[in-house]
Amino acid sequence: MGHLLSRITRQIKAEGPISVAEYMTLCLLDPVDGYYPTRDPLGCEGDFITAPEISQMFGEVIGLWCLQCWKDMGSPETVQLIELGPGRGIMMSDILRAAQLDKGFIKALRVSLIEASAALEAVQGQTLANAPCPVSWAADLSKIDSGPSIIIGNEFLDCLPIRQFIQKDRFAGRKGWQERLVMLDDQDRLSFGISPAPISETMQSTLPNGQDDAKNDDLLEICPAALQILDQIKARFGTHSGRALFIDYGPDSTEFGDTLQALKRHEKVGVFSDPGNTDLTARVDFAALSESAKLLNLAATLPVMQREFLSKLGLEMRAVALSRAKADSKAKIARQLHRLTDSTEMGELFKAICFQSDDLALPLGFKDMAR
Ligand code: SAH
Repeated sequence: MGHLLSRITRQIKAEGPISVAEYMTLCLLDPVDGYYPTRDPLGCEGDFITAPEISQMFGEVIGLWCLQCWKDMGSPETVQLIELGPGRGIMMSDILRAAQLDKGFIKALRVSLIEASAALEAVQGQTLANAPCPVSWAADLSKIDSGPSIIIGNEFLDCLPIRQFIQKDRFAGRKGWQERLVMLDDQDRLSFGISPAPISETMQSTLPNGQDDAKNDDLLEICPAALQILDQIKARFGTHSGRALFIDYGPDSTEFGDTLQALKRHEKVGVFSDPGNTDLTARVDFAALSESAKLLNLAATLPVMQREFLSKLGLEMRAVALSRAKADSKAKIARQLHRLTDSTEMGELFKAICFQSDDLALPLGFKDMAR
């Protein structure tokens, strides 16, 4: 039995069932046996691959987006460029290469990385060793110097722990939800069960509006950690200009269903199959994010599909320019473009959303602000 599996089994035996969020946190972030702290999970050799790992063009156009943000803020003398969950640091290094287009921007930049995994932090340090501006690491947003900021997170929200609720009495509305828990079956194997009691009233009040449509046995996922991050963003943007861009996979309206998934070497495996050694993610509910921002009085754009967002940032033009510069890579670049933008690949499943301070107008790449 895996080390983490036996620890979780012992813990549940001694203290009772745990929430899906607790299970995810143990599996992903346990400092000794967790998934992220103990390895570099990215790339072809790893378990999953992300947009910046697919193509340098992704980070480059995001770099141009950041440059535009800085200009929209009135080109402040310093700006914090903060990345949440930077993986191997590839996107940041592509952003900084594109940023070199404007010497004033480079001079203003202070990069801060927020990374839960010591192993990945070390990789980021290597990737960014020759960065053209200061780079440092922080434990969370509240620890970063105040001032204007640009915050980015690609495939960060999908690995934050979610809680799962099941509607057991739809006529009771919000009071009908009961939490899905991780427990042990009669052979001491990890399995799902359900809490006998309804969720707390506080929890009921934070559910997305989409919960109204639930039928009995529908499953709803919520991500309290994402809310906390919006809260910290709101606090930052209350005193200084800022934008926060998140790109991730998920629908733009609240949908029901269990989306917790485990990946190992690019294949889906059972979520209990090998705790601590598989990547766990859940899709992001962009409607719930928008509703939370509204409650916090934090300005948000409507989400747009990755395909549209990248296209407005000039991805195709970047592809043409790159293909000209590297004629032998033309087919490869066309394949990368296809993966990032095609509707059968990442183009429509992935969305971008931006939160910002009240002084700024609609950011580049988006169609409209949420009302
Ligand atoms: N953004 C990168 C990596 C995505 S994988 C890319 O697109 O390639 C998710 C990243 O978030 C990893 O770097 C992981 O270690 C980090 N991470 C996961 N949970 C985190 C948390 N709670 N706080 C900070 N970083 C976290």
